[in-house]
Amino acid sequence: MSRDFAPMPNAEGFFGEYGGQIIPPELKAIMDDIARAYHEIKDTDAYQSELRELYRDYVGRPSALYFARRLTEHCGGARIYLKREDLNHTGAHKINHCLGEALLAKHMGKTKVLAETGAGQHGVALATACSLVGIECEIHMGQVDIEKEHPNVTKMKILGCKVVPVTRGTATLKDAVDSAFEEYLKDPQNFFYAIGSVVGPHPFPMMVRDFQRIIGDEARAQFLEKTGALPDHILACVGGGSNAIGLFSAFLDDDSVNIYGVEPAGKGLDTPDHSATLTRGTPGAIHGFKCYLLQDAEGEPLPVHSIASGLDYPGVGPQHCYLKDIERVNYVSVTDQECLDAFMTLSRREGIIPALESSHAVAYAMKLAAERSPDETLLINLSGRGDKDADYVAEKLGL
Ligand SMILES: *Cc1c(COP(=O)(O)O)cnc(C)c1O
Repeated sequence: MSRDFAPMPNAEGFFGEYGGQIIPPELKAIMDDIARAYHEIKDTDAYQSELRELYRDYVGRPSALYFARRLTEHCGGARIYLKREDLNHTGAHKINHCLGEALLAKHMGKTKVLAETGAGQHGVALATACSLVGIECEIHMGQVDIEKEHPNVTKMKILGCKVVPVTRGTATLKDAVDSAFEEYLKDPQNFFYAIGSVVGPHPFPMMVRDFQRIIGDEARAQFLEKTGALPDHILACVGGGSNAIGLFSAFLDDDSVNIYGVEPAGKGLDTPDHSATLTRGTPGAIHGFKCYLLQDAEGEPLPVHSIASGLDYPGVGPQHCYLKDIERVNYVSVTDQECLDAFMTLSRREGIIPALESSHAVAYAMKLAAERSPDETLLINLSGRGDKDADYVAEKLGL
């Protein structure tokens, strides 16, 4: 497999100078166990056929590749296609890696899967995967987020997941991470910490990427079949970076394909209220790995903001940091306002209500398409659907 920038990462989990395992030795041994178990099973027929069957019959893969005719006409330039991860069971790409992680945990004989969740999207996808695979699931969530995201909390409970409210600190995502991690450290031999993006210590950025690569592999084949050529431009939003790397991985060796990762510029890059880590961050470390980081003078992560709660993380996946440095991917950003405009435009032109996260990719794609000729094509990864955001947007716009 030379097509996927292999061998990435190296044996220590580095993509160039990013990634690795910045963790205590006891945990390093556990992470190495997980990496070993993953390497043992990942290419076995049993694991591959189980995962493939679940992707097909449970998630509904392959997700459609859709030509957005009315959005294309609206922009007046390059032809726009959407990879419809919003049509997956549970409504986003996260189910792809949650199933992979839950199956791995089960295979390793772990008794409980643990995670934190912010807005609850990772929590619901993981609770879904755990009930399917038949393994206990415990999600830590800030009390503030529990009150804000009630439908997701209810879903997790219905799915049989234990939701642990976290009241310390600001009672939001960072405190939930600390709380879930403390629980994990009580018995890391028997517990599995399921990370929700291509972040954290090795082997998680690699494993989560591998699980998400199905997006890019499908999209590449579908695009060739539909148009007879590769897309000229591909785009995805970047929070931790899992849906983006899933798409990008299948196109990295195709020099003719321009790749764009779209970050949240929030209220503006010149305000403190953004989360554009690759655009404005500097090399640092967070949650057990090295990456670009929005940090203060002491190396502490800064508070970040995005209208899309799935994108507000001060770090970013290590492979994206490497791809930025070698200039294979263009990392760009759009504001909250541009995101909202794209959310409404896609809804009204195509009858597709996108997640606010995915709307970032749509917003940049609309600008790019308008500048390009109708001979060119552009592929957007529509990472999720916007049901979860509908009430918020309606209130914000006074609908
Ligand atoms: C969580 C989420 C994201 C952000 O996560 P990545 O790891 O950057 O992909 C993007 N889109 C949707 C719909 C999400 O739920």
